[in-house]
Amino acid sequence: MTTTVAFIGLGRMGGPMAANLVKAGHRVLGFDLVPALSAAAAATGVEPAGSAAEAAGAADVVITMLPAGAQVLSLYREQGLLAAARPGTLFIDCSTIDVADARTAHEAAGAAGHRALDAPVSGGVIGAEAATLTFMAGGGADEFAAAEPLLSVMGKKAVHCGAAGAGQAAKICNNMILGISMIGVSEAFVLAESLGLDHQALYDVASTASGQCWALTVNCPVPGPVPGSPANRDYRPGFAAPLMAKDLGLAANALRAGGVHAPLGLKAAEMYAAFAEEGGGELDFSAIVHTLRPQNGTQP
Ligand code: NAD
Repeated sequence: MTTTVAFIGLGRMGGPMAANLVKAGHRVLGFDLVPALSAAAAATGVEPAGSAAEAAGAADVVITMLPAGAQVLSLYREQGLLAAARPGTLFIDCSTIDVADARTAHEAAGAAGHRALDAPVSGGVIGAEAATLTFMAGGGADEFAAAEPLLSVMGKKAVHCGAAGAGQAAKICNNMILGISMIGVSEAFVLAESLGLDHQALYDVASTASGQCWALTVNCPVPGPVPGSPANRDYRPGFAAPLMAKDLGLAANALRAGGVHAPLGLKAAEMYAAFAEEGGGELDFSAIVHTLRPQNGTQP
């Protein structure tokens, strides 16, 4: 069945996601504040709309892929997206945003007579291009079922995590594990260096022992043991440090809001925020290993 989708936010993720919907035969009305991005999307078959509200008014489903919650809520409310949409329109927000903002977005959509789903993704730009994203969804079972045919065109897996905000919650909990474990793996390699233990030897043991984790065996922060890891290409991302800093910042907000005692999560957020600001802005998040060495930035 062909669905008319309004796709708002045609950046690094949204552009290829919208293109995959077109490829699957859906009609996509696209809008981005940056005209060049709307023009680039037009080349993939997306029909450029004059405004986000114009696109929403003509669509069955509105998908947003925006930087943060402030943009999502402002579009929904002040910029008239909810008011412009036909009653019962399904609003799917794929951006990574604050859990509290996601719940507010659900409430606002419901109050305006619409349906909503938060559906942030993992898999990055490569996953967006290859349609191999994983979606983590929050909202009602009916909304998830209605969204699934579209999500399956843009990704390889969609998990219904629970009620409003549960998708965002799953995303930040997962990335908090990842941020902490990358720092842990990096600290272990730095300790190994100071003890005269070879990187490969540590890898050979830890990768098949209880230290095993994704940060070690897929995204290994030192060059050598895992040929495909960003460390072997001068730490070109991969998953860029500022995105990890953003996600850990959202996790820290949720920790504070809930009064949750999670000192490592807060420390990881602090370390990644500093790293993203001070030299890590263009690098993969695994490059945080450089900040842990006493000489700060030089290989042993
Ligand atoms: P991006 O900055 O490339 O794209 C966001 C787009 O939104 C921009 O083109 C911007 O012009 C547009 N925009 C902002 N406000 C708008 C408005 N009011 N109306 C219309 N367009 C508007 O960012 P991205 O990398 O595509 O990331 C999008 C979201 O996906 C973020 O929430 C990010 O955290 C999340 N995410 C990104 C990645 C990644 O690897 N890039 C991975 C997972 C999740």
